[in-house]
Amino acid sequence: MMESFQDFIFNGRETSDQEVEMNSEIILEETLYKRSQQKKWGSPLNYKERLFVLTNSKLTYYEGRPEKKNKKGSVDISKVKCVEVVKNGTEQVTCQNKYAFQVVYDSNTLYIFAATPQSRDLWVKFLKEGIKNNNSILHKYHPLFWSDGVYQCCRQTDKLAPGCEPYNIFGGVGSKPLPPTPIENKRPPPPLPPEPEPEPANEDKEEVVIAMFDFHPVEAHDLRLVTGEEYVVLERKDVHWWKARNKYGQEGYIPSNYVTEKKLDNLDQYEWYSSNMNRNKAEQLLKTEDKEGGFIVRNSSQAGMFTVSLYTKYAGEGSSPIRHYHIKEAQGFPKQYYLAEKHVFDSVPDMIEYHKHNAAGLITRLRYPVCLKNKTAPPTAGFSYDKWEINPAELTFMKELGSGLFGVVRLGKWRAQYKVAIKAIREGAMSEEDFIEEAKVMMKLTHPKLVQLYGVCTEKRPIYIVTEFMEYGCLLNYLRQRQGQFNADILLSMCQDVCEGMNYLENSNFIHRDLAARNCLVNDLGVVKVSDFGMTRYVLDNQYTSSCGAKFPVKWSPPEVFNYSKFSSKSDIWSFGVLMWEVFTEGKMPFESYSNVEVVEMVTRGERLYRPRLATNRIYGVMTACWHEKPEARPKFYDLLLAIGQILEGDF
Ligand code: ADP
Repeated sequence: MMESFQDFIFNGRETSDQEVEMNSEIILEETLYKRSQQKKWGSPLNYKERLFVLTNSKLTYYEGRPEKKNKKGSVDISKVKCVEVVKNGTEQVTCQNKYAFQVVYDSNTLYIFAATPQSRDLWVKFLKEGIKNNNSILHKYHPLFWSDGVYQCCRQTDKLAPGCEPYNIFGGVGSKPLPPTPIENKRPPPPLPPEPEPEPANEDKEEVVIAMFDFHPVEAHDLRLVTGEEYVVLERKDVHWWKARNKYGQEGYIPSNYVTEKKLDNLDQYEWYSSNMNRNKAEQLLKTEDKEGGFIVRNSSQAGMFTVSLYTKYAGEGSSPIRHYHIKEAQGFPKQYYLAEKHVFDSVPDMIEYHKHNAAGLITRLRYPVCLKNKTAPPTAGFSYDKWEINPAELTFMKELGSGLFGVVRLGKWRAQYKVAIKAIREGAMSEEDFIEEAKVMMKLTHPKLVQLYGVCTEKRPIYIVTEFMEYGCLLNYLRQRQGQFNADILLSMCQDVCEGMNYLENSNFIHRDLAARNCLVNDLGVVKVSDFGMTRYVLDNQYTSSCGAKFPVKWSPPEVFNYSKFSSKSDIWSFGVLMWEVFTEGKMPFESYSNVEVVEMVTRGERLYRPRLATNRIYGVMTACWHEKPEARPKFYDLLLAIGQILEGDF
């Protein structure tokens, strides 16, 4: 096998294309777009999707997929005179990939379009790396496109006209040192790079965000969001609904939880990143997708760290098809990241981009980002900006889902399109005025692990409460109906969901007051969400509200609540421990046959619920920490999240 393309050039050995393809190590491989040569003035530009493969000696492009490809053309690396990003020209890029770079060789220029700036920069880096010892590197180049018979930068009309701007093979996007590659190790050090050019004025000074989910306007003042597109934020008066402008200049309100800041180190904007995914869920998802090189980048159980979960179909018998790699930080400042020690990068996205093209020690390349995001756009805080009163005429009522303290809950549709749950409040069951006041606050509580309140119908009686619909109903029944079907990891990830929702409530200084499996709901993806938060404050039934009432949830309450009705986030923590116990017993009643009075005595004496069979000592340790007699000695939800994350990752 050839050592490097340098060896190839210097030993001058003639090698057939076939041999090159067979022998050369692939440095980069990606489907990009290539612009037609536009030989005739005025002929339309067209763009072809091609699989580009870079080896030490050739840049080759193929039609089709990696498995079944048909070679369409190739450029000898030794003949390339310039590789550079094409600066934004006057020419409108009509290609679906927007990030162009050029490869100048012989008397031709190849314009290639990548989907992201990171991908484009990576190709430019590696190509520059490949050509830097060529004899015929240009001194000047054309920073803009050749189009319609003229260079858009200098208006010269001869295709072979000399360049109009100095070409810096080590500058521009390549001004940062390249990550060490096996090729580089074998070469003499490159000449010192000239001072990098000052960065062009940042055109993104306005607050630019990227849509993570599609959003369909509900009211005339809303603005449609298309996943992946950029928007300029104009106003943030309401934390949940920002005013924004799209690329066509249209303005309107967008849900702020559907967009993320456009910044290189903000991982939320990348399709491969799922912050809230634990190991168990990542494994399930990768197996379901069953794609070679399927990968997910997710938060690691250690705060602030990330893990890459990667799937291969060719792990060999007996070995797991999934590997989890911690993204490591190199010593020193500024921060640098790596998966394989030899390949260190300034940012996580750069590192991921590199491993998309090069396995470099991983079981396979990161070929296929796996994500749930499109399927699970989170609920918005209400249906639209400033909308909490819902017109009952826009609701369609469907089957009954259940009934509770306040009344009957039905499945329904809003504007014949959005599935919702509608609770019709029974007369005399609720202090309605107080609730209606509070509903405006509750609608602003928005989190993927909270059942979203969309709005209320208050103008006629009965009043309706409209919430997110959860296909599998309440968690308690869900557990009971599926007893024997869960393993400890699945049960713990249910607790993790609840803990995430509760962590958000705690941080919002909102006390649930009635956390229990019966007050959590499960959706069609098996995600558990916290429901009915704060609602006991509006119950008019004394038996429920008074701590000596028969319906008071004593078995979920700490001493300071059943003695002095002292509710706090710490009393929610106690209830969370009991909820964990319900989950790990697959829906048993805590303190089974004991009466409320007996439970008060037992708990006061220091007795606690026993360890469920499915809970390991460590999991039981989390529960018992929640049941500390002294509220201040109980952990916070954030501490519990860390502990649960570590158990799920097996990090102990
Ligand atoms: P209440 O608050 O009046 O006590 P609940 O919220 O407990 O009522 O709801 C009663 C039942 O209705 C639940 O046990 C559940 O089966 C069903 N239910 C309630 N809300 C939803 C929802 N958002 N999606 C699906 N089912 C629901």
